[in-house]
Amino acid sequence: MREMATRPEPVTAPSAALLEAVVDRVSRPDFRRFEAQLRSSGYCQKPVLLAGRVEVCDGGDTRRPVWSTDGEPDQVLRKACGNRREAVCKPCSERYRGDAWQLIAAGLRGGKGVPESVAGHPTLFVSLTAPSFGAVHSLRRTKDGEPARCRPRRARECCPHGIPLGCPKHHDPDDPCLGEPLCRECFDYRGAVLWNNVMSELWRRTMIYLPRELAAILGWTQRRLNEEVRVSYIKVAEYQARGLVHVHALIRLDRRMPAYRVDEVHAPARRFTAELLEQALRAAAENVSAPAPEELSGSPACWGEQLDVQRLDGNADERGRRASYLAKYSTKGTEQAGGLPYRVRRDGLDRLPVREHVRELVGQAFHLADEDTEGRRRLAPCAHMFGYRGHCLSKSRRWSTTFKALREARELHVREQLAKHGTDAVQRALAEAEPEDRIGEFSFVGLGHLTSADAYLAAQAAASARERREAGREARFDHHNGGGRTRWPQTPPEVMAA
Ligand SMILES: [Zn+2]
Ligand SMILES: [Zn+2]
Ligand SMILES: [Zn+2]
Repeated sequence: MREMATRPEPVTAPSAALLEAVVDRVSRPDFRRFEAQLRSSGYCQKPVLLAGRVEVCDGGDTRRPVWSTDGEPDQVLRKACGNRREAVCKPCSERYRGDAWQLIAAGLRGGKGVPESVAGHPTLFVSLTAPSFGAVHSLRRTKDGEPARCRPRRARECCPHGIPLGCPKHHDPDDPCLGEPLCRECFDYRGAVLWNNVMSELWRRTMIYLPRELAAILGWTQRRLNEEVRVSYIKVAEYQARGLVHVHALIRLDRRMPAYRVDEVHAPARRFTAELLEQALRAAAENVSAPAPEELSGSPACWGEQLDVQRLDGNADERGRRASYLAKYSTKGTEQAGGLPYRVRRDGLDRLPVREHVRELVGQAFHLADEDTEGRRRLAPCAHMFGYRGHCLSKSRRWSTTFKALREARELHVREQLAKHGTDAVQRALAEAEPEDRIGEFSFVGLGHLTSADAYLAAQAAASARERREAGREARFDHHNGGGRTRWPQTPPEVMAA
């Protein structure tokens, strides 16, 4: 990594002043420690800077100081910001995406404590969308995949505001008008933001309806069905260009296990096919609704007509691809729809560097927040999310493992490696101490790199780490592939070395 300062591959050429500052940093005697901090913070673009110390309990009441930031470069410890959003911190979002991939893939084809036989369970890949809140410009394709007209109309009709109801254009995928209402006056912003706000509840109810519909199709009581199967899922919420959230989910049917074996995952009886699950899901999506919150007037939220359901077979490659697709979306936010990755203030609304449609959505969320006097719908804090208050990625308990378990496994691995191969005595002492015997006391110093030279070095190091990962992935891919047979590599595409 030391070459990074001498062999940079910058996107934009660094200025002479920046290079000078970089040389300054690199020639400092504690540069190796600085490098180590960048590495252990995953080359985070906006690290949290902490000051403090770690002591180790030697049994009884004695504490032995082992390490303190006093001996570290700039007397701080750099810790990864951990933000999942690509628009906020690329390296942290890559790590998140790797973990998300692990979570999703384990529930699809086994691993991380889930048996491989899970690939044989009835599983659906489902996309559920919001209904229409007004005509928007969109990218359309014919059945053959050819570009089609946006909104063809034979007669030239206009809305009450004098704007044509049709749009004869073939839009490009990067056309900035995509997702824009044909007429903003006609677009139901209130309905759209309210829908985003109750979407999580609509999903929750859908997962309650699903087993009910299954029972109804089989002519069983719900109780009998619940004794036989359980539904597991993992879902990712994604923004459409029009600013509405839609859901991509994987839904799996497992055999119901007794309480003392509840962690085990087994296939349901043969009569529970993917076709049956699809039938029940379609019925649930059609029948379910979520009432508008009591605090706010509005009609109940339902799913839109666009419902895509695909049954997954046992093909592990295909399952890996689905996992990658979902994981990719788990690091996106409203920026997909031209929104902002940060909370916004109401008084700054007019100055936001966003398109008018987004300003309307954000403004509507603040407007609705006034009606929600107790703030129970969290509309103001979620205004930059266009009212959506749920998590981007969520899952049922039994889908697979958890982010926490993955993080802990990674930390344990790092500790074991340090204890085995570490050359730094302090790091080894830290690694060898049991976590419960380590007492850390830290205070917050700041956020982000201290200088632009540090930020530059971190970005360069992140880029070379990414290259190394990609090279490693290709090598593994070639190795597995042998004669060019398509095979998904056994490691996730974007997992960062811990
Ligand atoms: Zn970060
Ligand atoms: Zn159009
Ligand atoms: Zn209009």
